[in-house]
Amino acid sequence: MESESIEPMTCKCGYERSHPWVVEKAKYSMGRWAMVLTGISAIPKSVIVACDRCGFIFEESDDLERRKKAL
Ligand SMILES: [Zn+2]
Repeated sequence: MESESIEPMTCKCGYERSHPWVVEKAKYSMGRWAMVLTGISAIPKSVIVACDRCGFIFEESDDLERRKKAL
């Protein structure tokens, strides 16, 4: 039971959060994507920390400051 909290979180590739493949990126809803594509800057719906290779999401944040940085 205790080992669960001690074990580092890894994605399917076995990468930890600090691995270069694990990056922070903006996540948009469908409507926002349309706004971005038409050239209107929009703050992302949320920011995710995910593996760029397998798509495993380590963390999802809707913190406004982080969303602004991800623009
Ligand atoms: Zn991965």
